[in-house]
Amino acid sequence: MLRSTKIVATLGPASSSPAILERMIRAGVDVARLNFSHGSSEEHLARAELVKDIGRKVGRTVAIMCDLQGPKIRVGKFQGGQVTLQKGQPFVLDAECELGDAQRVGLDYKDLPSDVGEGAVLLLDDGRIVLDVVEVKGSAVHTLVRHGGVLSDHKGINRQGGGLTAPALTPKDIEDIRTAAKLQADYLAVSFPKSGSDMYMAKELLRAAGGKAMLIAKIERAEAVAEAALLDIMRACDGIMVARGDLAVEVGDASVPALQKRMIRMAREENKLTITATQMMESMIASPTPTRAEVSDVANAVLDGTDAVMLSAESASGKYPVETIEAMDRICLEAEQTQALNLDADFLNRVFTRVDQSIAMGALFTAFHLKVKAIASLTESGSTALWMSRLNCGVPIYALTSQTSTRYRCALMRDVYPLMVRYVGHDREELLREAEGVLVAHGVVKDGDLIVITIGEPIGKAGGTNTMKIVRVGAHLKG
Ligand code: PGA
Ligand code: MN
Repeated sequence: MLRSTKIVATLGPASSSPAILERMIRAGVDVARLNFSHGSSEEHLARAELVKDIGRKVGRTVAIMCDLQGPKIRVGKFQGGQVTLQKGQPFVLDAECELGDAQRVGLDYKDLPSDVGEGAVLLLDDGRIVLDVVEVKGSAVHTLVRHGGVLSDHKGINRQGGGLTAPALTPKDIEDIRTAAKLQADYLAVSFPKSGSDMYMAKELLRAAGGKAMLIAKIERAEAVAEAALLDIMRACDGIMVARGDLAVEVGDASVPALQKRMIRMAREENKLTITATQMMESMIASPTPTRAEVSDVANAVLDGTDAVMLSAESASGKYPVETIEAMDRICLEAEQTQALNLDADFLNRVFTRVDQSIAMGALFTAFHLKVKAIASLTESGSTALWMSRLNCGVPIYALTSQTSTRYRCALMRDVYPLMVRYVGHDREELLREAEGVLVAHGVVKDGDLIVITIGEPIGKAGGTNTMKIVRVGAHLKG
């Protein structure tokens, strides 16, 4: 059975050995995420190469997503690596402190004291520790511990409600964008963008370094979920990540489920991709089976219409990376069976004005009503497949392309299965037969099946889709 929803798996120590990685890929990884918060650029380059090698070997299109660290605001280091904070005790975050202890700790973000004032609430280590700011004196933020606990080196700091001014791209991110270009990343995820211009800046740097990756905006700041900001960010990127870890800390965990639904709906309307991320299978870091709540979470993300579900520590440092992917695969497949297909209702609200987009919508509508076996989109850029995948029509969309980079770009798109077509000539009939041949060779269709094909004429020009054809497989052989 074909899985519509894609799986993004973060790589790390638990998924470094070629044997484990191969098992993970066979179990269903569609996109491997390289987290630039950890590891050196050499390590990332080697990992990316290994992923593509194994993908080629097992015959799966596994794309690479580089994820920038961004201006994650963190505490400095402690003498002894960690301290335990007690409820009610005073604790100081001091930009000038070198090595921390139970009374104070340093900051890698030196501007924190000018961003906060009395009454601000700071959440450390994903909200496990809560500090109330009582006073700011020079470089020192004086707080009282509301919720205590163990605080260790370099844990993150968020401010409840957002409002920290750190720019979205740090000098390290700018360096890492070059690495992403060098390893030919297919997707580049930008952390903590506040506006569309943060995304444009990343895109310009990437293009200047020769990178062709699609841009993913991680929505994880309170400022980014305001309607206008969200639309501005969406229009400046190719897709978004519902980055629930930091987002929950900034806006409150209870707001996240509704935000997830709103963001996915909006992204699909804007023809953008979506990744639902963080703690989807958290308990599988240490356990071979997911909790009932995790099963429901993954299934609900599928029903929300996400393109992909993502694993972080589960696949990067957990004990059961392969089992986690197997579990995600079967949960997605089952959830997809129960999804109601209401193309007509969704379809009437679509706005499209371009010729290629109109053909994409026409093909989708036709495929849905004729109940064809497959849609084959001969595409140079992948955009025809993207448009078709924004609505659930229940028919698999095969993106047939001669471009290797396009094949990887399609790896994240829900319902889209990229296949290589090696076509050199410019004859339409020949191309249609070549497309049919590829689908038959992959066991996707057989003689007698009905398929819908979209192509652009003249052949080979990007953005030129202007033709749709309904074909009975093998009919040309019978004359
Ligand atoms: P991170 O992003 O894992 O890079 O922090 C995802 C999130 O915040 O949910
Ligand atoms: Mn984050």
